[in-house]
Amino acid sequence: MNHTLSRRQFLASTAATSAFVTLHPFSVSAATNQAHLRILSTTDLHVHVHPYDYYADKPIDTVGLSRTASIIQEVRDESTNSILVDNGDFLQGNPMGDYIAYERGMAEGDMHPVMQAMNVLGYDCGTLGNHEFNYGVDFMDKVVQGANFPVVCSNFVKTLGSSAGKDETFLKPYTILEREIEDGSGEKHAIKIGLIGFLPPQIMNWDRRHLEGKFNARDILQAAKAWVPEMQEKGADVIIALSHSGISDAGETEGMANAALYLAGVDGIDALVTGHSHLVFPSETYAGIDGIDVGAGTLQGKPATMGGFWGSHMGLIDLMLERSGDEWKVVTSESSTRPIYKREERKKIPLVGDVQAVLDATMADHEATLAYVRRAVGMTEAPLHSYFALVADDPSVQVVSNAQTWYIEQMMKGTEWEGLPILSAAAPFKAGGRGGSEYYTDVEVGPVAIKNVSDLYLYPNTVRAVLINGATVQDWLERSVSIFNQIEAGGQDQVLLNPEMPSYNFDVMDGVTYQIDLTQPPKFNRSGEVINEGANRIVNVMFNNAPIDPEAMFVVATNNYRASGGGSFPGADGSTIIFEGPDTNRDVIVRYIVEKGTINPQADANWSFVAVPDTTVIFETGPAGVRYADKVAGVSIEPAGEGADGFALYRIALN
Ligand code: MN
Ligand code: MG
Repeated sequence: MNHTLSRRQFLASTAATSAFVTLHPFSVSAATNQAHLRILSTTDLHVHVHPYDYYADKPIDTVGLSRTASIIQEVRDESTNSILVDNGDFLQGNPMGDYIAYERGMAEGDMHPVMQAMNVLGYDCGTLGNHEFNYGVDFMDKVVQGANFPVVCSNFVKTLGSSAGKDETFLKPYTILEREIEDGSGEKHAIKIGLIGFLPPQIMNWDRRHLEGKFNARDILQAAKAWVPEMQEKGADVIIALSHSGISDAGETEGMANAALYLAGVDGIDALVTGHSHLVFPSETYAGIDGIDVGAGTLQGKPATMGGFWGSHMGLIDLMLERSGDEWKVVTSESSTRPIYKREERKKIPLVGDVQAVLDATMADHEATLAYVRRAVGMTEAPLHSYFALVADDPSVQVVSNAQTWYIEQMMKGTEWEGLPILSAAAPFKAGGRGGSEYYTDVEVGPVAIKNVSDLYLYPNTVRAVLINGATVQDWLERSVSIFNQIEAGGQDQVLLNPEMPSYNFDVMDGVTYQIDLTQPPKFNRSGEVINEGANRIVNVMFNNAPIDPEAMFVVATNNYRASGGGSFPGADGSTIIFEGPDTNRDVIVRYIVEKGTINPQADANWSFVAVPDTTVIFETGPAGVRYADKVAGVSIEPAGEGADGFALYRIALN
């Protein structure tokens, strides 16, 4: 099946956008011996073809190659010569990807919807990202076989050679496109455009179960230094690195994941498409870093771009080439990105419409994905609700913790931290508050659908692990329990919760047991500042049935928000991160449920309140929680009437 549009069909499909095209200055000013070459790029699409949030089961304006595609035509029309490339992480990352991998499958000759869409748009080249391995190499291979364009990768390796140039790579390390390019006087000349792909060698750890013992990954810079000279020998006039690797100045180390800045220093590379970090380049994010010129859009003087993620931006590099004899070289460059939406106050306003041909070519898989997210992928033997998540150990948080622990255990294998105890920190996201009296997670015993998972995990965070000692574990929990007001012993119906502190900063930790003494003042205020040095609400922290050793080291599974300072938690300022997961916590939960089939996230009551005689507290929750009120682990709860704004009041006797 070939869905590639003819140029005429494509123009017709985007006619509305091409009415007021202005030529790029390079195209206008190119002299007789010069030519303007434009490189259009997408990166980190993660199967976002349609502008749809499958977790929330509703359309959104911030994602989708069908939207980015609208930019493609206007951008092509602005220049005399262009190519379109993809920078990897295309086949995994939303429920459509899971649907293809877990349900529909990829038989020999099957088309993957993201490839279908890229074929429609006439991509010229692609590369692999780290997520291409999530469903195994065989799956990736079948997806790639559907491409009507070369897919290259120089450092994913079948057999390592004695040096990078002798590696037996899985795909071709590079390609050289032999094209015609129109110069400033409208004359056409032959040009050889070289494209080479790179991915983070960390795939060997992240997808160990698919790769160990069978495949290998080569350091990015080693691969570049071996293959780029060969491309030059073969006559590549221009060499573009497709770097599924981010931009960092952390220093040049062997096996580094984010190598783009150093890759730019490799002789012979003329321009870089970067990605993996899901950020935008050029942008102020990278201002003030040595070797990076945000104004010029360069890394070590070479033009570079990073087009966000999920189709949010089109990345653009413009090269002005100059010919001497039959060779071309870059004389000047520009780089930029174009977004598919803009933010206006709290709203996100779409800037482009859809290319219908992209939607049409993938409609069957889109519709099948809708059915998939709405039907069961697993079973739960415990109700997954959050009505009492702020007052007792809770199944909706427990399932997140269980999945995080399961995942981090796999990720620590073969690392220097293998064997260290793993704790898991998780907070209830949907727990009333400003969201209102119906804003709770509530999944009954029985089938669990993908769309339920967004209920369990609201944010597209990615998994992190931090390394902290036992004393910091205790402090982390102290910070967490600033959500509680100080309670007076002997007092009745005292208000338990501080409504100013959001529930997402109430981290519960699994892997240890502990109690909370509500009669003590909080050590931290709701912003995480120390207000009572020496105060301890967290007592009896036990690990393996013994008091926690303040000096002992623990790996704590959490998310990128918390690990890099969100909520100002002790031990979570970014400096303690030992593992940056490529996977979202949501994906990990889906994978956990799919692999386990049936889950039973019974809250294990690993934390509770210290008994205070003759003392009661009051809190509010959603009235629908009434059916679970007598089954809450480790605490006795009784109804106490109606609260404001539709909430129900409950009373806890602390004795
Ligand atoms: Mn990615
Ligand atoms: Mg627990």
